[in-house]
Amino acid sequence: MVTDKKDIRALSKEQLRDFFVSKGDKAFRGNQVYEWLWQKAAHDFEDMTNISKETRQMLDAHFVINHIEVDSMQRSNDGTIKNAVRLHDGLIVESVLIPTATRTTACVSSQVGCSLDCKFCATARLKRMRNLNPDEIYDQVVTIDKESRHYFNRPLSNIVFMGMGEPLMNYNNVIKAIEKITSPEGLGMSPKRITLSTSGIPKMIKKMADDGVKFNLAVSLHSAIDSVRTSIMPFNETFPLQDLRDALEYWYAKTKRRISYEYVVWKGINDTDEHIEAFVKFCKYVPCKVNIIEYNPIDDGHFQQAASEMLDRYIRVLEDNHIVVNVRRSRGKDIDAACGQLANKS
Ligand code: SF4
Repeated sequence: MVTDKKDIRALSKEQLRDFFVSKGDKAFRGNQVYEWLWQKAAHDFEDMTNISKETRQMLDAHFVINHIEVDSMQRSNDGTIKNAVRLHDGLIVESVLIPTATRTTACVSSQVGCSLDCKFCATARLKRMRNLNPDEIYDQVVTIDKESRHYFNRPLSNIVFMGMGEPLMNYNNVIKAIEKITSPEGLGMSPKRITLSTSGIPKMIKKMADDGVKFNLAVSLHSAIDSVRTSIMPFNETFPLQDLRDALEYWYAKTKRRISYEYVVWKGINDTDEHIEAFVKFCKYVPCKVNIIEYNPIDDGHFQQAASEMLDRYIRVLEDNHIVVNVRRSRGKDIDAACGQLANKS
């Protein structure tokens, strides 16, 4: 429901403390409410049982707690869960729980739609409608943590910002959400278990390095040849590979943390030795590891997974050059929950 009341979760702890003081109450009350809002993820003032009824009514008169609702949930044969979540203004984004034998990973969205136009991505077909607020990102994680405990008897272990949207185009809100996720006053997760995956916006990668972020960085590279990368990721024309390389070198110099490259091999696009050679060369600029990702076709069939022999060739040449390579089998294909498939079809 849309209301004129302010979202209480837009307030910092200090602002909440100040609010209570301005109402003649103790600043400490702000700490208690803050704990309910974040650590306990309360969606209703009525849930705040150690706050008096009068105070809860006063909060309700001034504020609203905007929160997401799971609009629909689908479970894949492989255990993957896709949530279509409804935001307070009725828009929908998707987030995914990916279970493996040892971990449960949440893949979360950072924007409704996306303004970048990657040709292989279903989300690109939805125009960018708005950025998600920090609490909307946080709520996706809380929801998946609850699902993980319910269906797999274990808490969420990892988070990847690889859902709908480009996280670096919503930098401030993503950073605020990660602060809450990692804070002991929030979910208390280690930043080492969080990976921000970007299509590669050089100046924002440098900014993250300057800001001293502690989470991991992954870059969707897909081609180390400018003309080809531009044809599949048109913003590469504005931010060519040389600029990306400069930014990644800057990142590594400041953080000393290696980068992951996400790479899909498509038939007729990047499945030649020339591409492998260019990729290996790019991998040598900065310490890295490579995730070769199995592709999930979206409707038009223009992009198709390359032959398995070509994937094997990529892997062999990368390994011969002492580059760590993982192959990411696709998960949740039957429910359109796999990489590049999130497009609100549910
Ligand atoms: S791949 Fe990521 S950055 Fe590119 S259009 Fe899709 S959501 Fe946006």
